[in-house]
Amino acid sequence: MSGKKYVYLFEEGHAGMKDLLGGKGANLAEMTNIGLPVPPGFIITTEACREFYRCGQQFPPGLEDQVREMMGVLEKKTGKVFGDPANPLLVSVRSGAPVSMPGMMDTILNLGLNDRTAEGLARLAHRRFALDCYRRLLHMFGDVVLGVEHAKFELILERWRQKRGVRYDYELSDEDLDQVVEEYKALIEGETGRPFPQDPTEQLFLAIRAVFNSWNNERAVVYRRIHRVPDDLGTAVNVQVMVFGNLGSDCGTGVAFTRDPATGVRELYGEYLPNAQGEDVVAGIRTPLPIETLKEEMPEIYRQFADVCERLEKHYRNMQDIEFTVERGKLYILQTRAGKRTAQAAVKIAVDMVREGLITKEEALLRVDPAQLDQLLHRRIDPRAKLNVIARGLPASPGAASGKVVFDADEAEALGNKGEKVILVRTETTPDDIHGIVAAQGVLTSRGGMTSHAAVVARGMGKPCVCGCEAIRIDYDREEFYVQDLVVKKGDVITIDGATGQVMLGEAPLVEPELSPEFEELLRWADEVRVLGVRANADTPEDAARARALGAEGIGLTRTEHMFMAPDRLPIVQEMIMAATPQERQAALEKLLPMQREDFYGILKAMEGYPVTIRLLDPPLHEFLPNGEELAVEITRLRLTGGSEEEIRAKEETLKKVRALAEFNPMLGHRGCRLGITYPEIYAMQARAIFQATARLVREGAKVFPEVEIPLVSDVKELALLRQLVNRVAEEVKRETGVEFEYAVGTMIEVPRAALLADEIAREADFFSFGTNDLTQTVFGFSRDDAEAKFLHEYAEKKILPENPFIVLDQAGVGKLMQICVELGRRAKPGLVIGICGEHGGEPASIEFCHRLGLNYVSCSPYRVPVARLAAARAALKAKASPQ
Ligand code: PEP
Ligand code: MG
Repeated sequence: MSGKKYVYLFEEGHAGMKDLLGGKGANLAEMTNIGLPVPPGFIITTEACREFYRCGQQFPPGLEDQVREMMGVLEKKTGKVFGDPANPLLVSVRSGAPVSMPGMMDTILNLGLNDRTAEGLARLAHRRFALDCYRRLLHMFGDVVLGVEHAKFELILERWRQKRGVRYDYELSDEDLDQVVEEYKALIEGETGRPFPQDPTEQLFLAIRAVFNSWNNERAVVYRRIHRVPDDLGTAVNVQVMVFGNLGSDCGTGVAFTRDPATGVRELYGEYLPNAQGEDVVAGIRTPLPIETLKEEMPEIYRQFADVCERLEKHYRNMQDIEFTVERGKLYILQTRAGKRTAQAAVKIAVDMVREGLITKEEALLRVDPAQLDQLLHRRIDPRAKLNVIARGLPASPGAASGKVVFDADEAEALGNKGEKVILVRTETTPDDIHGIVAAQGVLTSRGGMTSHAAVVARGMGKPCVCGCEAIRIDYDREEFYVQDLVVKKGDVITIDGATGQVMLGEAPLVEPELSPEFEELLRWADEVRVLGVRANADTPEDAARARALGAEGIGLTRTEHMFMAPDRLPIVQEMIMAATPQERQAALEKLLPMQREDFYGILKAMEGYPVTIRLLDPPLHEFLPNGEELAVEITRLRLTGGSEEEIRAKEETLKKVRALAEFNPMLGHRGCRLGITYPEIYAMQARAIFQATARLVREGAKVFPEVEIPLVSDVKELALLRQLVNRVAEEVKRETGVEFEYAVGTMIEVPRAALLADEIAREADFFSFGTNDLTQTVFGFSRDDAEAKFLHEYAEKKILPENPFIVLDQAGVGKLMQICVELGRRAKPGLVIGICGEHGGEPASIEFCHRLGLNYVSCSPYRVPVARLAAARAALKAKASPQ
């Protein structure tokens, strides 16, 4: 043997060698070494695959010799000979990357069969079995190695079934199968221009090459991109002696999980097919039997298998997904791996395993992926339901909802108020549609990304949303949308699933979310470990209460503009904006004051005992006025139809104001504290409402901690000026009410200049809160909606950016600025409280970063609070394991 070792016998490896041997191979090695009945085999390393690519898709020197040598070892172990008709050795060839990766090459079974060995096999076992194995090899090899379309093989088989008037393959006669084999061979020759390779060694090397090539097939490349698997890992190849589950009634094959992967209940869960080969179970050709049937049919085998399951679970200290085959009354284990599971099962299994003494609490916390918990926190489609899926968009806000299709926010609101369930369908949504979103069960848009307006608002409200569903074409005039030929009219019922992005026709049955006792327990363990506080972004008392029930320790952001959008407020807000004199403006503000006071009273009360950050008005004022173009059209229409002069004049006034307020780039325009500086009376009214609510609650004996937050500050003087205003109002309210209360004044950090001058700004701030939505926009110079709609997907494809920075915090750039800000801020004011309230505050990787930065808390939408609690705990555990 020359040079590098590329091939390992199962006996030579162990579970810790996943990088070199792939997950499947490493586990086969491990099982062999703990004495389980694994058919012998060997693994070609991932390194060989990497070398294969380095050599221009050629086998590296030495590999072929090593493979031949190992085949010799397998021959010795089994007493069979590769290619010998007298006693043929057959093997399976399977891919196996270091991380489980669907999309790679499928399994090839029965490799080593040809016309002569098939005859030999027929003599050794029986004819039917040999023919069955051979036609499977021709099909699998033809499909995955030689690239002959799978359906063409199926068609041949289907024709024979029809000809004989039977339903299943096994009902065909030996003669029929013989014909099928001949037709398969002819198909391969016809399609590839070459006969099926009769030389088993040639088959083997072609199969190995096909596995290596499949590392770079389109499905695998896409899978890696989505799941952030590095492209240079390479795949291993597993070559294993065949055992046969299709030799007769004392044979079979199956797959089982050591616990129920849907519920987590501790019982064997799986399926079994008597007299069948591996892919029959998966292919759904015959309906497999529940694993319990094995208990009745082969009690001894069942006992052995249950034993193996228990051993493997104890050995790996995790729920396992195990493949097995029974050949003539003997059990073989073909694969084990950590079983994929639903969020519900993940939580239950982790907590149960701690109770069983199998793993520690810390391990349990690391076992549950916080991102998966979303599934448990929203209404979901009943997993047993049959669905009529018509389109698929981006899974923008989890949960499922059914309702009548409506295309207009006003109509959604009108129907919603009447108690009808509606789904608002728009190309995209704008702040003008908020009332429609509030009233709808869910939102479907044909454009926009995961942080488009619809997505952000829906997530904030905990409403399901599917966005960017490009397959649907909306015609607002006809009030219809189309998916190819299908027409969906206003009033038709659809269901959307914001966790998968699916859109379905009709009403799908839903199930309510539940926080299981195990889930609560896991979150309690998380709270013991985590260092970061977890708050929620909430704009209503109901949201605040929900957040609190899910474990929030305060509110990190109340966006007051949402209160201004409410239908009973908007006309007054417009009056305020349209005011010709300060007196008129003051009069409108006086009307808003009691409404805002009630808002803040409700929210502060719901969060009693915890801090509540209330942000003063942020968006530019034109967002509260009607759309200019629509107004102009309306004025023309009124003129043409003889509308009243008074109405026309009023609309013209509004249009004038709309035009006066129009901005070239509203994101960088007259918004945030810039509004407070121009219109201090608006901020004064909001501060007054906050403090009056506070005074009333204090008088009622409640402990409340309002934190007044000034948005979009870029210079300390802005903050100083507005802080003075807030302080002045606080003093006035204290004097007027005779009540003493505590409060804080702080700022959001949303523009680079604020971060760079954090030491100066800290002098005027009691707290900082990173508004990473805007900070990401301003650091990149990307406008969020434009970037997501136009070019960010290209950035992802071309790997310019690893992630959408509006979803996963850009640690390199935005993160660096945050770090500078934290250092400067705390240097000027030790102990300065700093949090984050952008979308990233609920995203696990970003939360981990916030932990490392030493922030005090993260704040996210109420439904993400449990996700954040777990992510914060995991961040603390990971930091402990590898301190920087
Ligand atoms: C932010 O910019 O991160 C933020 C929370 O504010 P908004 O999303 O309301 O602009
Ligand atoms: Mg912002």
